[in-house]
Amino acid sequence: MPGTSMLQGMNFDFDNRLLAELPGDAETGPRRREVRHALWSRVSPTPVAAPRTLAVSREMTEILGLGEVDIVSEQFAQVFAGNMLLPGMDPFASNYGGHQFGHWAGQLGDGRAISLGETINAAGQRWELQLKGAGPTPYSRSADGRAVLRSSIREFLCSEAMHHLGVPTTRALSLVATGEDVVRDMFYDGHPKPEPGAVVCRVAPSFLRFGHFELPSSRGEVEVLRQLLDFAIRRDFPHLQGSGETLYADWFTEVSTRTARLVAEWMRVGFVHGVMNTDNLSILGLTIDYGPYGWIDAYDPDWTPNTTDAGGRRYRFGWQPAVARWNLVRLAQAISPLFAGGEALQAGIDAFGAAYSAADRDNIARKLGLSECRDDDAALIRDLHALMQAAEVDMTLWFRALMDFDADAPTLTPFDHAFYDAAKRDTHAPQFHDWLQRYAARLRDAPLPAADRREKMRLANPKYVLRNYLAQQVIDRAEAGDMAGIGELLEVMRRPCDEQPGNERFAAKRPDWARDRAGCSMLSCSS
Ligand code: AMP
Ligand code: MG
Repeated sequence: MPGTSMLQGMNFDFDNRLLAELPGDAETGPRRREVRHALWSRVSPTPVAAPRTLAVSREMTEILGLGEVDIVSEQFAQVFAGNMLLPGMDPFASNYGGHQFGHWAGQLGDGRAISLGETINAAGQRWELQLKGAGPTPYSRSADGRAVLRSSIREFLCSEAMHHLGVPTTRALSLVATGEDVVRDMFYDGHPKPEPGAVVCRVAPSFLRFGHFELPSSRGEVEVLRQLLDFAIRRDFPHLQGSGETLYADWFTEVSTRTARLVAEWMRVGFVHGVMNTDNLSILGLTIDYGPYGWIDAYDPDWTPNTTDAGGRRYRFGWQPAVARWNLVRLAQAISPLFAGGEALQAGIDAFGAAYSAADRDNIARKLGLSECRDDDAALIRDLHALMQAAEVDMTLWFRALMDFDADAPTLTPFDHAFYDAAKRDTHAPQFHDWLQRYAARLRDAPLPAADRREKMRLANPKYVLRNYLAQQVIDRAEAGDMAGIGELLEVMRRPCDEQPGNERFAAKRPDWARDRAGCSMLSCSS
């Protein structure tokens, strides 16, 4: 039953279907434990000392029907720090497992995320509100359930930046400082220190992950698995009709297709997730769990931002499509007890390859300003990527400059600012000239009207992305007490494809000081 709350204007309709329709844990509260035959546990956020709202997403407040008065209220800070519940909120942590770095890790669950409830907005959309960093849950294992300010700023900003780039993602409503310290050993080198804590309220139609399906399956809890899949289809994929295996197969194919499109989008904008464990993949094909993610500066398919991943580089930029597919195979295995044979699941896996290649070709056409991607265009971009890697070329700046390319005067000069190393530019200049000639010829063959080509490229090749060093500068300021940078950067990231005169400094390539600095070139999982 939807419950309505109306308190000083903050007005939500809650319809907590996950709790109502899926089996839950008989025990309430944060005592750490194995939770069997259940997909969630009731647990309250742990109150914090001094909540202070640092930032909100204007678009998310509008979607949720919150006004200016609500946002600046004391009550807003209290609710979205986890100190106060509104009527209809029924907090819980969900239970899932996952493959981490290729290995089955058993029960993981929401160790520091607590959902407040599923709200239905005025447009009838379902949005689950989830606090990240709200204190311990049964799934916190040996950790504290908290989050530091630096990682919370990164999650808050990147969620919204990705949305504005057109990349499917969980959203962020708010960033609230807790007024409490959290102790973290940032480099895992035996030097723990207190850092300021924060809570992000993230928002999505569903936070279900591949790992939600893997856990009951790994335990042989086939009925729980079936209940979960039936529920996920009913709530999150209501357009899927039919029954039994056919319905399940359609669902898996759609998850596969969405995942393929998601990863193609990451590749388009130069985003590296950094921890593509199966517990960090959403069944809705949303980017989820912003941890040690990073953005490509100099084009490098071998780059991983995650220091924990530095050895095997499993989660490097160029491997993301293959890893997504590997994760889908894990999901297929997890739901296989609901199928008599493997053909339908294999077809779902095959759908990944087809959907990825279609999305990739579409992105190639958009990034190069072509009406369609032909077979030789795939080779054209492959050769460009190889050159960009060899010559250390900034991905974002290169493609943005390509939008103004003059096919009648193909020279490298308009791309000068995209090179990190002048010597490497000079060494590779002849090859770049060859490439630009090929590109010019391609543009002359089946050309789009100039204005259409430029607009297509403008929308596919953002000028402003959340470069690692930009986020770190905001964090440095915030840790010194100046929170203004958070809103400033969010404002720029709201219109990533617009020129934004006066904001060009936010489009500058990585400065030298950021090349090897923690937070800019690499990130630990400590958060
Ligand atoms: P991640 O690598 O961030 O996706 O996290 C993997 C697992 O560790 C998830 O189950 C998280 O909920 C849990 N986790 C991460 N950080 C904390 C923390 N500070 N307290 C409790 N659980 C955590
Ligand atoms: Mg996670």
